[in-house]
Amino acid sequence: MNKKLKRTITSFLPVEEGRTGSCNNCGACCHLPYRCVFLKTAEDEKEYCSIYTVRPPNCRKFPRTAEEHQLVQDTCGFEFTSSSESNKNGSIGSIAGINIISEDKNKK
Ligand code: SF4
Repeated sequence: MNKKLKRTITSFLPVEEGRTGSCNNCGACCHLPYRCVFLKTAEDEKEYCSIYTVRPPNCRKFPRTAEEHQLVQDTCGFEFTSSSESNKNGSIGSIAGINIISEDKNKK
């Protein structure tokens, strides 16, 4: 599944356990997989989100999983300190106690 589409569809799920840190405004997630149309550049060359207060859940929660964090791990201010059991099993989240398994992790 397209990673951007997957992030959008799963964005209503809770943030995976083990995330620490905070956003340092590096902007890396605003370029996945291409520069967001709402990302603007200020006069001082710093980038900012022009819809920050109403940004969608996939931006608000990013990185929601350790898998998402791998896409920006060189610059992102968040970290995933430990893999949860559900992530080790290939789960991308759960709803009412039912694990949702990533299609990509089932492929061998
Ligand atoms: S990649 Fe991480 S630190 Fe950078 S803007 Fe996104 S959430 Fe913030």
